[in-house]
Amino acid sequence: MAPEIKYNKIFIDNQWVDAVNGKTFETFNPHDGATIATVAEGDKEDINAAVQSAKRAFHRNSEWRLMDASQRGKLLNKFADLVDRDLDYLSELETYNNGMVLTTCRAFVGAAAHHIRYNASLADKIQGNTVPCDGDVFSYTLKQPVGVCGLILPWNVPVLMFISKVTTALAAGCTMVVKPAEQTPLSALALAALLAEAGVPPGVVNVVPGFGETAGAALTHHPDVALISFTGSLEVGKLIQQAAGTNNLKRVVLELGGKSPLVIMDDADLNKAVPYAAQAVFRHQGQVCIAASRLFVQAGIYDKFVQKAVEIAKSWKLGNPVLETSQNGPQIDETMMNKVLGYIEKGKSEGAKLLTGGKRVGTTGFYIEPAVFADVKDDMTIAKEEIFGPVQSILKFETLEEAIDRANATNYGLAAGIFTSSIESALQFSKHVEAGIIWVNTYFQLGAQLPFGGFKESGIGREGGLDAVNSYLEVKSVTISLPKKV
Ligand code: ADP
Repeated sequence: MAPEIKYNKIFIDNQWVDAVNGKTFETFNPHDGATIATVAEGDKEDINAAVQSAKRAFHRNSEWRLMDASQRGKLLNKFADLVDRDLDYLSELETYNNGMVLTTCRAFVGAAAHHIRYNASLADKIQGNTVPCDGDVFSYTLKQPVGVCGLILPWNVPVLMFISKVTTALAAGCTMVVKPAEQTPLSALALAALLAEAGVPPGVVNVVPGFGETAGAALTHHPDVALISFTGSLEVGKLIQQAAGTNNLKRVVLELGGKSPLVIMDDADLNKAVPYAAQAVFRHQGQVCIAASRLFVQAGIYDKFVQKAVEIAKSWKLGNPVLETSQNGPQIDETMMNKVLGYIEKGKSEGAKLLTGGKRVGTTGFYIEPAVFADVKDDMTIAKEEIFGPVQSILKFETLEEAIDRANATNYGLAAGIFTSSIESALQFSKHVEAGIIWVNTYFQLGAQLPFGGFKESGIGREGGLDAVNSYLEVKSVTISLPKKV
């Protein structure tokens, strides 16, 4: 049964309001394209109202600013308890709005609750230093929240992205305006209600659903916003960096796509490597920025590996994402489905060998069979551009040095993996590959404690771990003159 849609308005000052211009938009279930809710469509004026609310909540005499840091941690822990309480509902909402299979949604929502508790524990551990300056002075540093943050979310893992960005900013003491992706506005609204229930004061977290070119752009151009944290495409990331320097100078945290290499050495355990490689690119229909979309397999095991990879892809179960038997659900929408199908056509026309899958399934919903391409060359489009779909591209290599150089021959640098039984190969790979996340004999292993982000055009800054909270903090140096003698 479809989950009840409890919230479909804009959330400002802990109140539910309509858009100033009264506009709404529809949101869909990608399983069958059916409308599941009509949602208020925020625009420039709504963003401005939300930013003003966040600005008031950041005032030096506000309840939020005067709150003990440990109390902020307590509120976050309460929020985590509420997310655990509503785990079933939030997971179902995510599945209906996003198409991620329910079992994976449950794992993500569970991980999100863990992420909140990690950030809750940081709230009262944000500390400066005493500094041994020359002269008769006493110097120390304070770490203080940057101010009003604009958090722009992607549609691929909406609950986890909301929680990762919002609770890091809350731990730092910031206030914020969240703009969820237009495809998936519902979970952000449900989470906003839980923040209010946990006791987060009005104005601290505001949520404005709407479109990127209108609501999103208004947020990135707003002069009262101090920081933008964005997860999404490289193309929009570049627009955001420009906008951030237009009406004021915003800090930016950008988590943009990837074309992540996964290298399988001759000495790897194939029983482990083949299924991991499939998960690494097919999971969630390939709609993850860390998908292993360039699979480099060493020449000695290439043919054997390809044969096993095809067997796995053929056995992959597509179906309604609410069913436990489904390994993959639909792509997020028709536009993305057609984009992925276009890449598959391009792969074929440029000479890669499509060994299985790659076709649309049915005519309702946006399902694509997992595709395996062999004989892929570095200069083919499918080996260069981010596809965001279930497309495994297998490339052949001879030596580790060659694999490292080819892995690095991309503008992206988000994640990379290697399967090998040689510690030396693993260490060389980890040292020389230009990526923010490296996995050895595993993939997709993430944790709230670990920094997440990329080198090169995969982004700026990190989410997760201690590095993330530092992005939301200013450092202030204080120097006090001391008398020469006591
Ligand atoms: P995708 O191409 O995967 O849909 P996008 O990068 O377009 O990803 O979108 C990610 C997020 O960025 C969404 O919340 C979207 O509304 C927002 N967005 C898109 N364009 C802009 C823009 N020009 N300014 C600010 N936000 C934008």
